[in-house]
Amino acid sequence: MSSVNTTIQLITRSQAEKQAAQLVGTPGRAQESCDEDLAKGPWEFDLAEALAGTPGYGPGASNEDTAPPATPVQGQLPQEYKDASDADLKSRIVAAKAELGERVVVLGHFYQRDEVLEFADFVGDSFQLANAAKNRSEAEAIVFCGVHFMAETADMLSGAHQSVILPNLAAGCSMADMADLPSVEACWAELAALYGTEPDDDGRVPVIPVTYMNSSAALKAFCGEHGGIVCTSSNAATVLEWAYERGQRVLFFPDQHLGRNTAKAMGIPVEHMPLWNPRLPLGGNSAHAMDEAQVILWQGFCSVHKRFTVAQIEQARIDFPGVRVVVHPECPMEVVDAADEAGSTDYILKAIQGAPDGSTFAIGTEINMVNRLAAQYPQHTIFCLDPVICPCSTMYRIHPGYLAWVLEGLLRGEVLNQITVPEANAVNSRVALERMLAAKPRQARAVAPQ
Ligand code: SF4
Repeated sequence: MSSVNTTIQLITRSQAEKQAAQLVGTPGRAQESCDEDLAKGPWEFDLAEALAGTPGYGPGASNEDTAPPATPVQGQLPQEYKDASDADLKSRIVAAKAELGERVVVLGHFYQRDEVLEFADFVGDSFQLANAAKNRSEAEAIVFCGVHFMAETADMLSGAHQSVILPNLAAGCSMADMADLPSVEACWAELAALYGTEPDDDGRVPVIPVTYMNSSAALKAFCGEHGGIVCTSSNAATVLEWAYERGQRVLFFPDQHLGRNTAKAMGIPVEHMPLWNPRLPLGGNSAHAMDEAQVILWQGFCSVHKRFTVAQIEQARIDFPGVRVVVHPECPMEVVDAADEAGSTDYILKAIQGAPDGSTFAIGTEINMVNRLAAQYPQHTIFCLDPVICPCSTMYRIHPGYLAWVLEGLLRGEVLNQITVPEANAVNSRVALERMLAAKPRQARAVAPQ
């Protein structure tokens, strides 16, 4: 099965070329991509952004999202890496890694393109990769083939002697960028004016801030400083339980969908989950809605997961009777409700691994991961719910050319594209991360030895 990138390249070619090659995907499903620019080298967008003076996320699912002015822009990749053939880049990366040996560890996120992931020493979700970085203390450089907030977390959890490198600085995350520190601080001040700051008779403070792992280190630090916590898509329910033991309500950012889906599954009525628009007074809500609020949801979303729809699920059930529909909890609530199951990337992986041979899965998460699963588990039929190929724009900004560039930089003793979190933010972020690691699900606490 060809990679997502190979398929995108073929889509932009002639019909004869498409027929000559076996396109990725499930028979009978359309072969089109959401953006013809995906076939270009990502460096073309580094140049476009440099000329326009404004950052952007590049082609793919986040293309229409507005990148904040402070979003990092990648400088120009040296021409030799743009001109190199795929085979050339591959042999340069292999040679650089061999020469660097234990001095470097390459981490690759599940959503990364195959042409990069083949060089990863560890593949996983953002938290698994941050832990992998922590466990490779002998490596002086950690090359993180993911996005900016993941590299920040790796920097905070790795040793002071280690450098974390993001091969393309434009690999941010449009969802993480939807909540910035000044807007969250302004919201916090409004909530303090509304609810006060004194605990109730049970010692629960008015609001606990909870940030999704997919957020800047500055927001993780905000949570650490204000009695809050970090969550992942695997432990969001446990974290919300932790928060309600200490607070009367939760401010959840930046992903409204993960917050809503998790709180709803815990039995919180959707009417008690006002959506906070940072540009409007009281987030655009009435005083009554804020009085009733149990979880205040920041108005952020993931442009990859918001592409999934109930209509796609209905079509998959028509095309593949008996199909098991598993979606990520960053999908909208109606999609999660219409699916058979919802869970993190790790949940999706385990669901496939544990299924009897011959199962059929329609998966609602990023296309690179879905197609890789389809190739790794040929005993099943696995396809992406979205028939249009639309990868995460920012993951796609990392191409083997950038990986070769940063590895060869290390060979010359140059650390390119280092990601460093200021110590003040790192200290408070670690507090919020450690609270998350210590939080235990209710069931586990019930059976824990005294
Ligand atoms: S898939 Fe969504 S949440 Fe993940 S990095 Fe891409 S934009 Fe961010």
